[in-house]
Amino acid sequence: MKDFFTKKKKYATVPSAKARQDVPEGIVRKCPKCKKIMYVKELKKHLFVCQSCGYHYPIGAYERAEMLFDADSYVEFDKNMVSLNPLQFPNYMHKLESDRKKTKLNEAVWTGKGRIEDCECAVAIMDKGFRMGSMGSVVGEKITRLIEYAGKQGIPVIIFSASGGARMQEGVLSLMQMAKTSAALKAFSENGGLYISIMTHPTTGGVSASFASLGDYNLAEPGALIGFAGRRIIEQTIGAELPPDFQTAEFLLKHGQLDQVVPRAELRTVLGRILSIHTEGSAEAWDRN
Ligand SMILES: [Zn+2]
Repeated sequence: MKDFFTKKKKYATVPSAKARQDVPEGIVRKCPKCKKIMYVKELKKHLFVCQSCGYHYPIGAYERAEMLFDADSYVEFDKNMVSLNPLQFPNYMHKLESDRKKTKLNEAVWTGKGRIEDCECAVAIMDKGFRMGSMGSVVGEKITRLIEYAGKQGIPVIIFSASGGARMQEGVLSLMQMAKTSAALKAFSENGGLYISIMTHPTTGGVSASFASLGDYNLAEPGALIGFAGRRIIEQTIGAELPPDFQTAEFLLKHGQLDQVVPRAELRTVLGRILSIHTEGSAEAWDRN
């Protein structure tokens, strides 16, 4: 009996929950998929993709802009546009303020223009760190302005989606942004504009049901969750179990709802190809790449 109590723990080398909590976030990060611990510096070098299992860490809008554009080629638009509290939703302003501090953004989307592989384009990048990337009036307005600007300049639009959907605290004003952004894209498209949508983890709700799905090219990052309603709601509604990979980028590609799943490390090259074909207007551009 004594032996039983004094027996050494079989998994003594695995750090305890307490020790894991003590891992300093700013220096190392643990991969949520394969649990490998890596230096942030090393992760940054690999565009925040786990080199062990390929997991794509969600990244902030400023980090994304930095790794996307040609060096020193981009500028930000409408940086100071901020949300009001039209419904007087309790605590809303306080939550916005705390997310501003956390992300350095004033809203859940970064917009601007810059060059990718030497092609000028207008780009929006959503940041899920800001109110889960939810779309309120400012997100819709910034994206609509960007599309209209690109239309006037005759340059392509690229939107990186990362969103939990419409923003609850702005009620119907949030839902209106779905129609507003979609209408702007329709006018842009009728005018011959090129729009590339890139869905990153997660692209759900009202964002997936509006501009994120309207690209001339619909691309996604590996492993991204993409869908309108959550798995549980669908299972309850249809009374059936869904496959385990349901609503992943790979599942959508297999079922014809995406054009390509593009690893982060290849994204600039893929975008460069698409942009050069459309701006130079010939297949030679593709061959050259
Ligand atoms: Zn991993």
